[in-house]
Amino acid sequence: MIKDRIASSCRRSGRSVSEVTLVGVTKTIPYSIVGQAIEAGLTVLGENRVQEAADKIAHLRQVTAQHDVEWHLIGQLQSNKARRAVELFDAIHSLDSLKLAERLDGIAAESGKRLPVFLEVNLGAETSKAGVTETEALHLCEKICRLPNLVLKGLMTVPPFLDDPQEIRPFFKKLRELRDQAIRAGIVDSTFKELSMGMSNDFETAIEEGSTCVRVGTAIFGSRS
Ligand SMILES: *Cc1c(COP(=O)(O)O)cnc(C)c1O
Repeated sequence: MIKDRIASSCRRSGRSVSEVTLVGVTKTIPYSIVGQAIEAGLTVLGENRVQEAADKIAHLRQVTAQHDVEWHLIGQLQSNKARRAVELFDAIHSLDSLKLAERLDGIAAESGKRLPVFLEVNLGAETSKAGVTETEALHLCEKICRLPNLVLKGLMTVPPFLDDPQEIRPFFKKLRELRDQAIRAGIVDSTFKELSMGMSNDFETAIEEGSTCVRVGTAIFGSRS
């Protein structure tokens, strides 16, 4: 059903469905239900806490042995959990400082891994939210691209909470413009093209504005208790 809605948004905006990845956000959802979702075809899972993800990944070993799944970290990462995060996750959407990037790069080097990351931008300049400011984003992209063990895939944002997706549209547009600016300026690699934006309430608008990665929880699993 979510996949159908993604497909119609793509059609409406003249995009191919293959350009948009669905990250099913499984935070707080019991692993038995997550297991069923994997059996039903969900292949990319988003978690916002390292420990919770570790528990789920351990419980779901049998299911994931038979299905190719990726675990993405979408919540803020504390530096003391960076090592565990590199072990567990296939991508990190919530990279929010150069210091953390350098730490992840060092750990990835030791693990012989190249870690895909997104730089999180706090477009609403909300003090309650993680992410770098719009002003520092491009400079940081340039620096992160030079770290050999990270693959900077693109930008991520969690816009201010507003009921009406139309009010959120300008934030999605802004993230797309930032990405395009970085590409035009020639400061990023060709791997940098993704936009991780759009949640249950607004993923259709996000796709219309160019999202390549929607992070959807409640619209798949129902409301979190
Ligand atoms: C919880 C969460 C989501 C999913 O939110 P829903 O509204 O349930 O779709 C997406 N992104 C981040 C960063 C989250 O923390």
